[in-house]
Amino acid sequence: MAQLVLLPGKDRSLARRHPWIFAAAVEKLSGRARPGDTVDVVAANGRPLAKAAWSPESKIRARVWTFNPDEIVDDAFFKRHIQAAVERRQLTPELRGQDGLRLVHGESDGLPGLIADRYGDTVVLQLTATGPEKWRQAIIHALQRATVCARIYERSDSHVRRLEGLPPVTGWVFGAAPAERLCIVENGVRMQVDVVAGHKTGFYLDQRDNRLLTRTLAADRATLNCFCYTGGFSLQALAGGASSVLSIDSSGPALATAIDNLALNPQLDANRAEWREADVFTELRALKSAGQHFDLIILDPPKFAPSAAHAERAARAYRDINAYAFRLLNRGGLLMSYSCSGGISSEYFQRIVADAAVDAGRDARILRRLAAPPDHPVALHFSEGEYLKGLLCQVD
Ligand code: SAH
Repeated sequence: MAQLVLLPGKDRSLARRHPWIFAAAVEKLSGRARPGDTVDVVAANGRPLAKAAWSPESKIRARVWTFNPDEIVDDAFFKRHIQAAVERRQLTPELRGQDGLRLVHGESDGLPGLIADRYGDTVVLQLTATGPEKWRQAIIHALQRATVCARIYERSDSHVRRLEGLPPVTGWVFGAAPAERLCIVENGVRMQVDVVAGHKTGFYLDQRDNRLLTRTLAADRATLNCFCYTGGFSLQALAGGASSVLSIDSSGPALATAIDNLALNPQLDANRAEWREADVFTELRALKSAGQHFDLIILDPPKFAPSAAHAERAARAYRDINAYAFRLLNRGGLLMSYSCSGGISSEYFQRIVADAAVDAGRDARILRRLAAPPDHPVALHFSEGEYLKGLLCQVD
């Protein structure tokens, strides 16, 4: 097996169990390795540190599979670690009855570059690095075994694959497309999941608990859901008895699915729902000019800052929409505001929201900090990672 030799002193982040080895930490590769091959990682003095997947084209030159230099990376490795990830979800009672669930969350489950989501009896697999790419078949078998699913769809079309020199790969890798459209029931609400063309692997599973929170807060509230996608927050707000729900998204197809989703839930009062295809930045201003007010506003925008380099521009965008949301709230109104930008820390996000309240001339407090649910565990060493962060604020 080839050896990846680190430069002196560059083993510190590995000692802290951070699984990424950047190009600048590498002295040399002794021996030959193809992309995705497992290499022995050794310190400058030759001390064995880890086994990692080699990725020559990426700035992240290798990702650690195991910090135990004696552990063998083979089919059984994936069987063991995927089984453990699936069992980890069983630790949380409220996850047990969920149709839609993240089974493997990359680095946070010790499997860098591997995402697996379950939607009923369908599993969606996403490989984002050379390591899991090499072990595709072992991973597919391990997922079949651990989940007893009917079918697996591969959705390896994330843009980050380009950084690894990998082309997009999509298609059914086990079983065939289901005869009916795929639906899940999320906390009592039926939602379609388009694993082929939907965002991410088809659905925003990371907002499940926050959508449920919306339901518990929505009673009798005039609600505005910005960036509604397929209506997840909107439908939960209706389920919670919102007096009205105005939902905005710039994507016509997403709104069409949202409207279909509402029709799949005859228990909800469709007359209280209004859908608007618009740019949120423009529409918030238009609502303000029209003198509209709301009691609950949800802001769940796309990632404005994929990395720290975009943080400043993103901060201005977050501040803008949050300030408008504060202006549109009635007294005692609630704002649920989210960011999934890797480049914006939770402290920074709080400062942006605080500045936005000042811009709007409103006094507000944080009632609750909002995060992703337990099927999206957080790697200890990824404090600034792309994790969902949010604030529930109330204005005076
Ligand atoms: N809250 C959703 C997920 C939101 S994803 C859920 O729980 O499922 C972000 C959404 O923002 C996408 O649907 C995208 O179409 C929409 N979007 C992106 N930029 C926008 C803009 N400027 N105005 C309106 N919608 C936008």
